[in-house]
Formats: sequence, C-alpha cells, structure tokens
Amino acid sequence: MTGATAVSGDEDVVVGIDIGGTKCLAVAIRGNAIVDVSRRPTPPAHALAEHLSAMVADIESRLNCQVSVLGVGAPGLVTPEGVVRASPNLREARDEPLGPQLRAMGNWRVHVENDATAAAYAEWASGAANGARHVMMITLGTGIGGGYVIDGEVFRGANGFAGEVGHMIVVAGGVQCPCGKRGCWERYASGSALREFAGGEEGEVMAARASRGDSDAVAVMNTFANWVALGLANLVNAFDPDVIVLGGGVVESANLFLPSVRVRLKEHLYSSDRRPCPEVHAAVHGERAGAIGAALLGRLR
Ligand SMILES: [Zn+2]
Repeated sequence: MTGATAVSGDEDVVVGIDIGGTKCLAVAIRGNAIVDVSRRPTPPAHALAEHLSAMVADIESRLNCQVSVLGVGAPGLVTPEGVVRASPNLREARDEPLGPQLRAMGNWRVHVENDATAAAYAEWASGAANGARHVMMITLGTGIGGGYVIDGEVFRGANGFAGEVGHMIVVAGGVQCPCGKRGCWERYASGSALREFAGGEEGEVMAARASRGDSDAVAVMNTFANWVALGLANLVNAFDPDVIVLGGGVVESANLFLPSVRVRLKEHLYSSDRRPCPEVHAAVHGERAGAIGAALLGRLR
C-alpha cells in the first residue's frame, strides 16, 4: 500500500480476508505495510468460520504475532452484525452467522463487511480513487459486486445491503442467474461471463490471445466491454460518481478492455455530451482490494 490515508501508526497486526467464490485471500497489515499474503480454496459456507480462523492461526505462526483485528469481506447480503443472509456464489450460504461465530473463536475484534464495499474503501483510502468524493467500486469476479464511498464514508443502505448491482436486471427473461432471477448484469459482465463468451476458455489464455491481436479473442473482449459499459451507464445515471474503480480478477487484463469500456460508457450514458463522464480506473490493489479494505475497516471500528 502506498500513501494510505486511513492507516495509522498502530503496529498491531491486522488481518483482512476476502471470501471469493473460489478462494479466500488473506492479507496481514502491520502499520502501513502488507507483511503476509495467503490463499486457500473457499469451503462450503457452514465451514467458513473455522476455515478463516485457521488462516489467521497460520499467519500468527508465520509472523510470530497475535492478530488483534480480523476484517472479513464476504459476498452477498451481509448484516451489520456479520450475518451473511444470502450469497448466490457461495455454496450453501443462507443466514450464515459468520461474524458471531468468529467473535466466539478468538480474542480479537471482528468486522464483517460486504466484499465490494471493503474493496471500495481500500481503493479510496490508498488506491485508484484515493481521496475522491464519490467513489463507485465494481468488482468483476465470479459475480459482480458494488461498493460506494461517499465523502470518505462507506454507504451501506438501510440494512447493509446496498450495492448488489450484479443482480440489476439488464435483459428481461435473459440468462438464468444462481440468485434465481434471469438476465442479471453479472451473467453478462462478470469474470464468469467472460469465460462463457470465450466458450469456456480460461481468462488468462483468452487474454493472451487478445493481446496478440487474435480477432476472435478481441471480439470477445469487445462484447464483454460493451456489457460492462452498459451496466456502468445505468449506475452513473443513477448515482453520478466522479470515479469508478473496476476490480476483481479480470482487471489483470484491464488494458484489453478498459479503453473500450470508457468509449462505450460515453455512448450508453444519458446526455453524455452535456456532462462530465466519470473516470474509470482499474483497481490499484487488484485482487487484494477486498482483503485490504476489510482489514482497514476492521481497524477503524
Ligand atoms: Zn442474479
């Protein structure tokens, strides 16, 4: 991390863990520095608390320290107490009391946050949207998450459930989504959607082909960029942010689709010739944004 505004001189070790659809990514932060990064496959939801607690124990033994704060970024609907009400991309997640379970497991402070909200905070605190007033973070992973930081405060909505933009319906009666609805944006603009467009080919392989100028791969990237831009235009029409940060695994290939997203966003946006179009950047913290933000928000509490 560089230039972090929300990181104090506190030298305790704080851990942030981002729970993804396929893997859990943990970072340990001491002062302003990331001192450890680790990954494990994501287990079924009922086993998460034990799994995360074991990841922290590993960190403690590697760093020979005691972790004082655990921040967790979880996909889906997360209550202020840290109960995961629903999460279509996490196996068996329904009313999972992750926060209460973790609090009972260790002598630490626990904060569970929606993963994209956590990522938004990391990018605002020390990343691509550092210091911006109205920040919208969109994570393109297994699904799509959304998070907002407004005047330095995360925006959670009435129940903590704001930002579920992946389930914004963009095609009436469209592709079936694991959430039970059809035509959700994440069926067209997530990392999984990109793989679908590429006929199941792994993202990195397809990205390598696109960067060599392979016309099929370039066409797939352009289709994907258009779907990303279409959803962003809807969100900009609704929220008028000054910076949009795109995160998630696919931003590793941001140079292959971001220029096209910027052009298409202007085309889809309402009255784009008479207004500023928000800046669109790739997340500086990449796939670590959610874990870093969860750690920083945990330390704030
Ligand atoms: Zn959905």
